[in-house]
Amino acid sequence: MKASFASVYEPGPEGPAGGAKAAGAALARTRRLSSGCCLLVLFLVVSTARAERLATDGWRVEPEAARVVLDGDVHTAWRSDGPQSPGLVVTFDRGRPVLVHRVALRTGDALSAFARGLAVEVSADGRTWATAAVVETLNEPDLDLRCNPVVGRYVRLRLTESAGYPWSLAEVSLYGSPDPGALDRETVIALPDEATPPARWAAEELRYYLGEATGRFPTVQAKGAARGKLVFVLGPPPTAAEATKLKSLGEEGYLITRAGSQVRIVSGSPRGLLYGCYEILDRLGVKWLDPTPSGEFIPRGAKLDLSNLPVAAGPSFTWRHCNGWSFDQMPRAWVLWTVRNRINCIGQAAGWYAHLDRYLGATPARGRYLYGHYPHSFARTLPGYLFKDHPEMFPERGGKRVPYDSVPGGGLQFCTTSPATQDYVVNHIVEVLRARPDDLYSLCPNDGGVWCECAECLKLDEPVLPEVYSDGRPNARSVSDRFFSFLDQICRRVDQALPGRRILTIAYSNFDQPPRRVERLPDNLSVDVCQYGCSSHGVNECERNAEMKRRLEEWTRKCADVGIYDYTFDQMKVQKLPLPYCRAINEELRWLAGIGIRAYSTEGAGSGAGWLYSPWAYWVMARSLWNTGPSAASLTEQFFTAYYQEAAAPMRAYYQAMEDHAYQQPVCWGSYNNVPTADKFPPELLATLRRHLDSATAAARQPLIRERVARQVEAIAFVEEYLKRGT
Ligand SMILES: [Zn+2]
Ligand SMILES: [Zn+2]
Repeated sequence: MKASFASVYEPGPEGPAGGAKAAGAALARTRRLSSGCCLLVLFLVVSTARAERLATDGWRVEPEAARVVLDGDVHTAWRSDGPQSPGLVVTFDRGRPVLVHRVALRTGDALSAFARGLAVEVSADGRTWATAAVVETLNEPDLDLRCNPVVGRYVRLRLTESAGYPWSLAEVSLYGSPDPGALDRETVIALPDEATPPARWAAEELRYYLGEATGRFPTVQAKGAARGKLVFVLGPPPTAAEATKLKSLGEEGYLITRAGSQVRIVSGSPRGLLYGCYEILDRLGVKWLDPTPSGEFIPRGAKLDLSNLPVAAGPSFTWRHCNGWSFDQMPRAWVLWTVRNRINCIGQAAGWYAHLDRYLGATPARGRYLYGHYPHSFARTLPGYLFKDHPEMFPERGGKRVPYDSVPGGGLQFCTTSPATQDYVVNHIVEVLRARPDDLYSLCPNDGGVWCECAECLKLDEPVLPEVYSDGRPNARSVSDRFFSFLDQICRRVDQALPGRRILTIAYSNFDQPPRRVERLPDNLSVDVCQYGCSSHGVNECERNAEMKRRLEEWTRKCADVGIYDYTFDQMKVQKLPLPYCRAINEELRWLAGIGIRAYSTEGAGSGAGWLYSPWAYWVMARSLWNTGPSAASLTEQFFTAYYQEAAAPMRAYYQAMEDHAYQQPVCWGSYNNVPTADKFPPELLATLRRHLDSATAAARQPLIRERVARQVEAIAFVEEYLKRGT
């Protein structure tokens, strides 16, 4: 079910201006938002370019030497005379009351000299102080704190902990409004009685962005204390009718209704509640375009229109994933982009979901964690050390049973027809799932596709079909029948022991074909089908994808829960290659949803660099995964308008020239590891792209927009250089 309304919010109820009195606002909670290790430089850009940082002139700073924290230069820092001790303060005096609802701090070059514990306080007179935010234990040099709006002439940072180091501050950014009357006393966001961390996060997101976008700053209050002309009630218990409706929307669905002064956001889960809040912000025009701190777009002076309620919505895909590699350290900004664009998994599916728990709550639609490693897990299920005592469970090669490591590279699979193997695997899965009630089990072959040659296994492979893959690779022997016959057995036995508990596998390599020997796979099996072929056109759009399309249709007839494992953003070699994929992504996802596929995952953005050279593609994917309704043209237009602002028209033309070329010739890009080639970028296309980029460079005024245009200039220079060199 989709949201049935289309118009944007228009002018709505607004309370009278609040008085400019010293803040007594208690803070629901403090949060650290930014840390983005490799994104520090970009952070400065957002502070000045997008979010409403209060002007840095007109402030008196005490001690006087700390004036450098407002100079915009992260390499100039103030440092305390002695080591950190509680009570040490830096005070900012604006000379008149202002409204503050966010404070961002940067330590600068002396990384270890960050504050160990900190309070942000405000005052009308410099004598009586109210607490705006407290962070008890700090372990990062940079800090981004948001709080209910507070009004005061003075803002001070006060240490609450001791440390052997001095205290260093390079930059302080205060956000809010120079007009204390911008405090909106009539609009309140009411937390549920027992607010979980995701509910608090939802409230804080709604509060912060409503304030930034409308210029009227509401507060978050406990439900019992919430009074106002407009009260957003987060997570009230659903009525019987609402509960029925929510059930049809799935666990991530939500209803937004209005009754008098109350706007109720009703959901069946914390995640649904958060997504309901993002729906309101989305209608306001707030967008999170790329995964950097400067990637958000906030339309200033936006008006909230609640005339189009009620809204009922849920996702087109229940499992949404668009950056599928793991990272040593996931930048916080990536996590936030993911959460805010309603993607519900990040990184490699098994482990990284934990990054999202605090925002989304537990239990995504496909099970909380995928136990057993995803996607390659045979050797974890049946470990190699068992070979010594149980060679009969291991593969036969050249007439005898051999251990996994007899084939270099780890691509050898256990014997799937051995009764001993089947017993062991069933017992192991049942034991794991008993101990982990929220999980599903990932049972996927090792990466490599070398299989047992015992007579029983070989027998199941006949007849051997097909002889080539859809993208032309030879397929020496399809083992789909033996593999899915094995899974058929395992899933039935697990279901007998633990009814309803699920197993996930992949259809990949030489087991990517639907099995012929199994008419219908058990309902407790989910299959992620790996998608090969052409990425510049949807699976439903291109001759080169015809076999893949047929295969997916057959999979959906054989299996109740088919997902996709794609390679769309897998740019291992050439991160700077711009990908003209918006239309292909949007068309394909709509078609996949149409044949009943509800889970989608794709590799990419491993090092993160590639994302920023094709930010449109990730954004269009996230939007289309949530709702396949809007067209590629409308999404692309929205993206370029917000992302390139004064340079939007030439940048849109730049992108469109690439996409049109891919469709009109047509030119099929591969599944992954795409590199620049002359058919993708012929000389006349490159000349057109250069011309649009020249116009965009001339049009770009803001530093952030200049930087974004320059990145595409760099991308096309890279393409030209690559074509010249041939590597
Ligand atoms: Zn075998
Ligand atoms: Zn194609």
